[in-house]
Amino acid sequence: MQFLFALRSKGVTDARVLTAMEKVDRAAFVKGIFSERAYEDMPLPISCGQTISQPSVVGLMTQALQVQPRHKVLEIGTGSGYQAAVLSQLARRVYTVDRFKRLVTEAKAIFDAQDITNITTFTADGSFGYSEQAPFDRILLTAAAEDAPSPLLAQLRVGGIMVLPVGQSDTVQTLIRVTRTETGYDYDELRPVRFVPLLEGIGQD
Ligand code: SAH
Repeated sequence: MQFLFALRSKGVTDARVLTAMEKVDRAAFVKGIFSERAYEDMPLPISCGQTISQPSVVGLMTQALQVQPRHKVLEIGTGSGYQAAVLSQLARRVYTVDRFKRLVTEAKAIFDAQDITNITTFTADGSFGYSEQAPFDRILLTAAAEDAPSPLLAQLRVGGIMVLPVGQSDTVQTLIRVTRTETGYDYDELRPVRFVPLLEGIGQD
């Protein structure tokens, strides 16, 4: 309850998003001593030197994505798997990719243990998207790019929405929402954020 209260006070007001976040136990996605802090609104360390995002940021990004029950969603940056698990409560199917095989394997084991069956995981450089399953209704990046990667723009369905952090540096980034129209792309700036960078290639762990 405290967890939901904190989310609401940070602007996560969408009832479906709050219900999804109530159902997914964040403690399952962090290890050891960090699980004690799983319900606090802070990012926490995970394997491969990466981080699980702050719950309020997960909530705000999920809310901005406006996921509907029939949607096919692509997430770039599986990390712990927490964001994908939240999306899986709202969408028909979630494809999630990370450049670290170890993170993908660990996240998949958690999805299996929690009986989450509508997430497909894979290891790759997610900047290229997943052309075999394109187009996607929604695309979410949880690592910061300098600009929206063009393969991802191309794999977004007309009418589809992509949410991502963009920025030239590690410290100042802006969360943006890109909507594909019949004729092009509309861009909205949402809020300042701070994410790990989107890196090229496959990770060595
Ligand atoms: N969504 C995650 C947090 C992601 S942290 C969660 O809920 O826990 C960002 C992740 O993006 C890291 O795991 C990092 O390995 C991954 N990443 C960075 N660049 C990438 C790329 N080009 N392709 C796929 N994953 C990438």
